[in-house]
Parts: sequence; structure tokens; C-alpha cells
Amino acid sequence: MINVHIINCQILRKPLHFLLMAIASLTLSYTVNALPQSANVPGGLVVIELDTKTSQQPKAMYKQTPLAVIQHNKAWHAVVGLGLGAKPGEHFITSEGKRYPFSVSDKQYPEQHIQLKTRKHIDLSAEDLARHRGEKKQALAVFDVFDVEQQPDLAFSKPVVGPYSSPFGLKRFFNGEPRNPHSGLDIAAPTGTPIQAPAAGKVVLTGDFFFNGNVVYMDHGQGVISMFCHLSEIKVKQGDVLDKNQILGKVGATGRVTGPHLHWSVSLNNVRIDPMLLLPKETQAE
Ligand code: ZN
Repeated sequence: MINVHIINCQILRKPLHFLLMAIASLTLSYTVNALPQSANVPGGLVVIELDTKTSQQPKAMYKQTPLAVIQHNKAWHAVVGLGLGAKPGEHFITSEGKRYPFSVSDKQYPEQHIQLKTRKHIDLSAEDLARHRGEKKQALAVFDVFDVEQQPDLAFSKPVVGPYSSPFGLKRFFNGEPRNPHSGLDIAAPTGTPIQAPAAGKVVLTGDFFFNGNVVYMDHGQGVISMFCHLSEIKVKQGDVLDKNQILGKVGATGRVTGPHLHWSVSLNNVRIDPMLLLPKETQAE
């Protein structure tokens, strides 16, 4: 009787196990291989299908920088990030000795003019400036990280629930002086609101920075990096591997800010792009 019972269980278990495996692999291939829509503008991204039959992940380069290459519908696609400084006109990437041209159109981002009563947010002390320069160096080194083994999931989720309070690309002027354009997306939320990883990845840097306050940098793979700023609390440490939607910290107002919000930057091939391009349509309108 005991034997029969065991056999029955195995018979029952096998198809169930197989079914679960099939569902798991379907979900995995769907999320990992989802591709964003191209937006051929400064601050956008371009998806280019590579003409290759190789089963091994091919390399692709844009201006001497390696690109994320993602398998989708059995074809390899290079994903090119375009910085806000990208010039409208013809550009190209290279892969396995082939040249893939693409064009970039101009985009006018909105302007914001702010009158400041004091210059303390503009003129930094020598000490603060030295600190900021050191931190900027650390940050730039992180944006340069390229983990070829990790296939990035570019179907991101919105990291914080809340309204968008400042768009990517906003051209800012303080007392008429042009500043750096907004290189991230701001989401307003009360201090303490949890921040979730928009995609799986590894924590590559955390710290308390002069402008950015408490920061977390995540490497999603192949040069796709997220930066989260102004946190009230950091819940992870360097080296932690996070699942999608895992909590990494809480919204705050640390660093040079006027109120609590999340500033979220996304970098591809070491240029900052509009994070909105990686979010599902339904969360773009919120
Ligand atoms: Zn911001």
C-alpha cells in the first residue's frame, strides 16, 4: 500500500512540477525580454535589432561605450541611451563589424525660472565644493559600471507611489543663470514612503552626498544604472542583490532640497535618459 501511495504521488507531482516550471520560465522570459519603445530624441533611447544569428550575446558599441544587448523574440537588440547633449542628425552604433545608422530628432524640454533670495544654493564654500567634486567622481565611476553577465529587465515599475513633481530634461535657471538640466524624474511623496527597486539588480553604492542627500545606486546589468536621491532612510547596503519591487529605502528630504520627494535617475551606456521611457504606459500618466 505504501509503495502504491508513493507512486501515485509522483505521478501527480510530475505534471504539476512541469506546469509550474513552464509558468515560471514563461514569466521570466516575458519580464526579462520586454523591450522599451524607441524615442529618438536627446534624453531618449533607441532599440536596434542586430542582424546576427549568434546564440551568444553579441557586443555592440556607441561612441566607444558598450551597450545593453537584449534577446527578444529570438533576436538580439541593442538599446542605446541618448544623453540630453545628443545632437540631432545621423548617428550609428557598431556590432560585429557592422554599422547600424539611426537618426536623432530635436526635442524642446520645458524651462523653469527660479528667483533665489540668497546665493547660498549657487555659491558653494571651498569645503563644500571639494566634497561635491569627490562625490561626483564616485557617482561617475558607478555610471560607468558594465556587468556583461546580468541581462537587464527594462520593463521597470514605478519606484514610489505619488505624483510626478518635476519632469526629466527640465531646463533650470536660477536668477536667470542657466543650471544643469534636470537629469532625473521627481516623484513627490511624504517622508517615509517606501521606495521599491524598479527592476532587479545589485546595490553598487550608498552614501550621504552633499546635493543628493542619502543615495542608493543600483546596477540592473549591462550599463543600466538607477540612482535614488534624498532618502530619509537607506534600507540596503553595497553588494546587496535586490529583487524587483524590493524596498531599498524611504522617501526623504536629505541633501539640497526644498521638500520630500524621490529624485530618480536612470543611466544607459553612461548617459542619463528619461526614466519615464521604461515605465508601463498606465503609470506614465499618473
Ligand atoms: Zn530631481
